[in-house]
Amino acid sequence: MIELCGRRYEAPARRTVVFCIDGCAPEYLDAALADRLMPRLARCLEGGGVYARGRGQMPSFTNPNNLSIVTGQPPRVHGISGNFYLDDATGAEVPMNDPRFLRVPTLLERMEAAGVRTLCITAKDKLRALLGATKEGGRAPLSLSAEKAHEQSVDGASIVELVGRPNPSIYDWDISHYAMEMGLRLWERVGARLLYVSLTDYVQHKQPPRGEMANRFYARFDALLGQYLDAGFVCAFTADHGMNDKTDAHGAPNVRFLDDLLAAAGIVGQRVLLPITDPYVVHHGALGSYATVYVSSGQLGSARAALSAVPGVEAVWSRAEAAERFELPPDRIGDLVVLGDRSTVLGKSASYHDLSAVKQGLRSHGGLHEAVVPVVVCHRVRGQHRTRMDRGEVGNADVFDLVLNGVERDSGGATP
Ligand SMILES: [Zn+2]
Repeated sequence: MIELCGRRYEAPARRTVVFCIDGCAPEYLDAALADRLMPRLARCLEGGGVYARGRGQMPSFTNPNNLSIVTGQPPRVHGISGNFYLDDATGAEVPMNDPRFLRVPTLLERMEAAGVRTLCITAKDKLRALLGATKEGGRAPLSLSAEKAHEQSVDGASIVELVGRPNPSIYDWDISHYAMEMGLRLWERVGARLLYVSLTDYVQHKQPPRGEMANRFYARFDALLGQYLDAGFVCAFTADHGMNDKTDAHGAPNVRFLDDLLAAAGIVGQRVLLPITDPYVVHHGALGSYATVYVSSGQLGSARAALSAVPGVEAVWSRAEAAERFELPPDRIGDLVVLGDRSTVLGKSASYHDLSAVKQGLRSHGGLHEAVVPVVVCHRVRGQHRTRMDRGEVGNADVFDLVLNGVERDSGGATP
């Protein structure tokens, strides 16, 4: 048994992989299954596998949710409150890609300490350091990225040569599949028994369910899932967050610029932080449905009232309310947390954002409507784990618990 933050995990009895399909709203899976684009997944589900709709973490961004998946804990515990946060001491906006921001070990680190060789592969290089973090000084999980695969090697062997094709760019539809191919080619070579493969959401940002590229994405995912099953892997997957269309009736990005709105209400000296911000601007132009605002205590009430009155703003919570409601670390969020509704994103000011990156339309995430995710175990699940899945009482933070503690040992050997 491996213990982490009060949860207990069995060491994997068989080789095991968890995928995080970045930006995979359940509607993508529903459409691909209905259109028979995912025959291997369909066979798994007919054979006793379970597909639940579960909770993602707020904010519904990549870094907080990936860290919840690999720690089994909400952001309040693991400390990663966004892709970015505001460092109070320096006033700088800092990307939270560095392991020093992580407040607990990951399950992968604890598995390594227990002698289970682990392998993490991310599509986006920005996650590589966090997933390979060590807080306790033991052997680090092996952590690689598809984005930088051409710069990486394993035991002196080139990853690109091992995979057998050059790695696509981060804005190609199949960079995620390359990450999955890396897992298939590398696990045996590095002796890994537990894999975590985290994809990227470029396709989901660009196309809704049933888009031509989205169809290709899910069909290829299914074929690779089949290769893992055929290689004897116990397989499970979830998403970090969903994705929704964020455009107005004319197809233009549906944005509320919080700095401009606050200035119009007479607020001065505020700081609007958009924790979706990351290097991958073509995805979203730094526009998501979650923002956090730093404002002086004397203006807090008027700022909250002004933002609450804006159409498309779904909720405005104080720091304490947001920390409690969404299990966020209060020292890493602002004085207010602002949520856009299903079709609305939040920006700083009209002059700050380069909307040319999203002129083809804008699909994004960050709010409550993108915090619903699929939680899928491809094998029979037993006991209370099964009950919790059937009731939808699971989230992405439970996926390692489900696959390590909940899969029937004999069904883990069957190949659906
Ligand atoms: Zn994501």
